[in-house]
Amino acid sequence: MATMLINGQPAPAASGATMAVRNPATGEVVDTVPRADREDTRRAIDAAVAAFPAWSALPPHQRAQVLLRAAARVREHLDEVAELLTKEQGKPLRDSKIEAERFADNIEIYAGLVAGGALRGQQVALPQQKAIGLVVRRPIGVAGAIIPWNFPLTLLANKIAPALAAGNTVVAKPASTTPLSTLRLAELMAEAGLPAGTFNVVTGPGEVVGNEIIRHPAVRKIGFTGETETGRRVMASAADEIKRVTLELGGSDPAIVCDDADLEVAARAIAIGRFFNCGQACLAVKRVYVLEPVADAFIDKLVARAKRLKIGNGLDPQTQMGPMHTEGGRATIEAQLQDALDRGATLLAGGKRPEGAAFSNGWFFEPTIITNVPEGARVWTEETFGPLLPIAVAKDLDEAIRRANDSEYGLGSSIFTRDLAKAQRAIEQLDAGYTWVNAVQIAHDELPFGGVKHSGYGKEHGTEVLDYYTETKSVVLAGV
Ligand code: NAD
Repeated sequence: MATMLINGQPAPAASGATMAVRNPATGEVVDTVPRADREDTRRAIDAAVAAFPAWSALPPHQRAQVLLRAAARVREHLDEVAELLTKEQGKPLRDSKIEAERFADNIEIYAGLVAGGALRGQQVALPQQKAIGLVVRRPIGVAGAIIPWNFPLTLLANKIAPALAAGNTVVAKPASTTPLSTLRLAELMAEAGLPAGTFNVVTGPGEVVGNEIIRHPAVRKIGFTGETETGRRVMASAADEIKRVTLELGGSDPAIVCDDADLEVAARAIAIGRFFNCGQACLAVKRVYVLEPVADAFIDKLVARAKRLKIGNGLDPQTQMGPMHTEGGRATIEAQLQDALDRGATLLAGGKRPEGAAFSNGWFFEPTIITNVPEGARVWTEETFGPLLPIAVAKDLDEAIRRANDSEYGLGSSIFTRDLAKAQRAIEQLDAGYTWVNAVQIAHDELPFGGVKHSGYGKEHGTEVLDYYTETKSVVLAGV
């Protein structure tokens, strides 16, 4: 059995309760983890409270040195962590390795930033004679990190790297279906010298462990990534303690393909953008609007790419697309597809579970493309979190932008064009936290990232994220 990490020590749940983690490709149990309750969670929070004074008092470059050692230790174990991630999440091994590397990258980036002076304030001229105005920056205290299952390591790093580098301590809760790689990383970082209590990991149900982290008065900040509906509950629960929250929520990213686009570039990017991680990415391309003159040519190219994708167990090096993560997730995709077909949609690729013994115990679904889907269908109004892509033909850019914005979400967006004026219109008019021109989906560590509308609140990445893991204090230094 894997154990939690509380105050630098391996910890079972006090009750002895456990939960099984299953491989979505085979249904087999990979391992079990503790099923913590509120009391276990409070122990982790107490440890983070106790660790805060010493950790926050370290000069930033010393915290950075500790974090760099922790990242180096993770790098020595990338293959092991990646294999755990594939077994619990389902994604191809190659993608798991990239994700584990990005975890280490992120720790190094924020260690480097704070060592290089990124935790900076201001000096402000004041009218009062001899007085100096300062804005100083302080860590917040204990930060809670609540993580979903689709990118367990990247989304963890997005929170703990800036939080720890800025001098906060952390209590993290991974999704119950993907705790194993997170627990191993925490163990490795503790072995590398991260002080006890600085980074704690508690495993258990969101309504219990997550809720305790959100409600506990000693946790001063919540970094949450997950569904919009859960985000609403998180924000409401955090209100009692007037707690800072960053919410990275659902998306239904549109991609617009203009009639002057390089269709090969567009088809390649959109195929990756939709089918990467079996379509289970917040920033996946979830709706396509292609302009009429190039619609047939573009659709042919995209359908050919979807049909070529090799589906399989993520541990098989040939696999390009693994299973969906849960049975429930696949059932939702099947229902959204059926709703579109019932309304008269045309199926162009996929549309079913792959056949054969290799697929019979996992949650596999074929890369699926549909067109002629009437407005109002579920695939346009809901988030589709799986390998299902609806394509609409638009008569002009006005219609494409209108329909792209016709969503409660506003996470990412993209446009494929060689015309700078069209790109500029998309940049100005698409309601989203990100617009890619001739590219999709990759959220660069260097650029701030966060959605608008129901896709979230606050930013991760960039130097901007440090604003969300620090408080500023204004100081007047009067002369005597
Ligand atoms: P989810 O909301 O079901 O769960 C996310 C986390 O919240 C899990 O750890 C879960 O245990 C916990 N949780 C559940 N109920 C809770 C509660 N009442 N209180 C506190 N914590 C609770 O999301 P999911 O299904 O794991 O993830 C998929 C969703 O995440 C999709 O909607 C996707 O778009 C979104 N997502 C967003 C981003 C982003 O950066 N915007 C990135 C990845 C995923």
